[in-house]
Amino acid sequence: MFAAALAFGLLFGPEDVERVRRLAASQAWARDALARLAADAAAWPARHLETYGLERWEPPREGASWSHKWVCPDHGARLRQKAGVSYCPIDGRALRGYPFDQGVYMHRHTDSAHAARDLGLAYRLSGHPAHAARARSILLAYAALYPGLPIHDNMNRRDTTPGARVMSQTLSEAVWLIPIALAYDLVRDTMNAAERARVETDLLRNAAAVVRKSDKGIGNWQSWHNAAMLAAGLVLGDRELAAHAIDGPSGFNFQIRQSIAPDGPWHEGAWSYHFYALEALMLTREMAARAGIALPEQAALKRMFDAPFGLLLPDGTLPNFNDSAAARLASFARVYEAGSRVFGDPRYRWVLRDADRGLDALLFGADGAGAGEAPRLASTLMPESGYAALRSATGDFTVVMKFGQHGGAHGHFDKLNFVSFAEGRHLAADPGTQAYGAKTHSTWDKATVAHNTVVVDERTQAAATGALLEWKAEAGFTAVRASAGPAYPGVRLERTLIQTAEYLLDVFDAAADDGKPRGFDWVYHNFGEASSPLRTSSYSAFPASEGYQHLTRASAGETERDWQCDFRQPGAGVRLRMLAAPQTRVVFGQGFGPDLRVPVPFVMARRRGTRLRFAVLHEPYRDRAAIESFEETTPGAYRIRGAGWTDRVSASPGALNVRRTRSVR
Ligand SMILES: [Zn+2]
Ligand SMILES: [Zn+2]
Repeated sequence: MFAAALAFGLLFGPEDVERVRRLAASQAWARDALARLAADAAAWPARHLETYGLERWEPPREGASWSHKWVCPDHGARLRQKAGVSYCPIDGRALRGYPFDQGVYMHRHTDSAHAARDLGLAYRLSGHPAHAARARSILLAYAALYPGLPIHDNMNRRDTTPGARVMSQTLSEAVWLIPIALAYDLVRDTMNAAERARVETDLLRNAAAVVRKSDKGIGNWQSWHNAAMLAAGLVLGDRELAAHAIDGPSGFNFQIRQSIAPDGPWHEGAWSYHFYALEALMLTREMAARAGIALPEQAALKRMFDAPFGLLLPDGTLPNFNDSAAARLASFARVYEAGSRVFGDPRYRWVLRDADRGLDALLFGADGAGAGEAPRLASTLMPESGYAALRSATGDFTVVMKFGQHGGAHGHFDKLNFVSFAEGRHLAADPGTQAYGAKTHSTWDKATVAHNTVVVDERTQAAATGALLEWKAEAGFTAVRASAGPAYPGVRLERTLIQTAEYLLDVFDAAADDGKPRGFDWVYHNFGEASSPLRTSSYSAFPASEGYQHLTRASAGETERDWQCDFRQPGAGVRLRMLAAPQTRVVFGQGFGPDLRVPVPFVMARRRGTRLRFAVLHEPYRDRAAIESFEETTPGAYRIRGAGWTDRVSASPGALNVRRTRSVR
């Protein structure tokens, strides 16, 4: 299982030196990446000193605070630093003391670990002993510092299970430890026995123990813990620690079996965590493969690489559901480097097509360049994770609904929410997530009213797993019907979406099984500006809680008739028409979007009752709406008339269908 004591090869071995030299001789990107590595090594530590305003390099004498607390208390924006001082990017205000200074320490600790790794790689690729000496001094400085750093957590409590020493949580300690272990692997043959003993005992073994005390079970944390424990176990020659990382109760094999849905997404339902976990799993796989440890279940990893193609929006971003910001798939290129090499799927190379291929490509990537093969975007159902992507066969109109499992601590209370895209723009908006230390994260990002669904009695949903009821993908339309599951006790919520190239028919049914009337708020957020012919006046009847406190500039009108409104952005509008229902109060206003500085308009239809239906036609358009009429002919049957066509649409359970007749005009 273990190579000879001082040979290197945890993630980069002698054969890689030759491979990288060959790559650099034949391919421009590899030559550039290698040149950058050499330049960065030569710039250490001068550039680091300049960045952080230091006289000489040394590790901060204190552990880091939590990255999610490194945000402006006023604006919720993630901070920046200049010469070691944190400041808000919105108004430039300097922020000092805990947790801000310790947020800068986080960056210094991280940069130093990466520098040690990169110096080790530069040493192996150039043979330059000065690079090894600098890596060594980083490792020895941390070996001296590490045992004396108190274990502290994200709330700055001492000696808690998730707490760590250099970082404030074992997750971040694990992420930090991997480049440290790799650096040691690369330069330890330049160290004497006493130096090796200090790094092994005081730093690597000690840090592995800090990580190991925190068994997080299923999830992204433990996937990183496993990768770090395997790295430490392999460089220390500690078979028990390495085996624990792979076969332990929460080891790699457990994560593979428990954390990946049969249809591919990571169980937390947020793409940022999907790729974060996948990166740890692929690192583990890489180290295990090099150490000759068999991983029979690793094929499941391919499902994680494939899943995003099902929900990919036409601009190459992924829906920002749960605790995930909207991210381009290409921003995860470094993960696809290894995926491309291991699984050889040409779509993975397509993800890399515009990527700046750097160190990750040199270490883990496929040898060739080439454009790869674009994924074919088609209507996709992910029944286990609970997503449905509805796509029109012509044009870029895309709707992605979310109805599945809650997603643990990173879940949002948004069953039956959807986002949409057409004419090159994001239309229906989800706020995604701010840093967890931002004031609006728990009060808005996660709240039901921040999403495009129905809120009952002005309360946020319970964590719930919804259910798929029907799915139909035909040549002319795609349809899905799903329920919100037990999101509200005693209330059934069902949404039917039927999409054609011209529109989305959206039928939302709500029923109180106990016969007690409730308030139902159908809410929809869309980027741009909202307008409506409906007469409204200012409105102040929202509660001051459950996310409603963040709905501002509200104006409302009451109507018993059909009503409509438009949301417009340059070159991309959407018209909503809602069918008449008694005593409907329609409220317009603003909420937060993914960028806290840019408000996103919403429309809300408020009604009370025991059984009611919201029937809405969403029509995306470039310049002007073209659909002429929308009506319900018999319950659950709709007639929609456009320029030269009439659709008869059935939204009745078991009979979802669109029949189109064309008329000559
Ligand atoms: Zn600020
Ligand atoms: Zn959300």
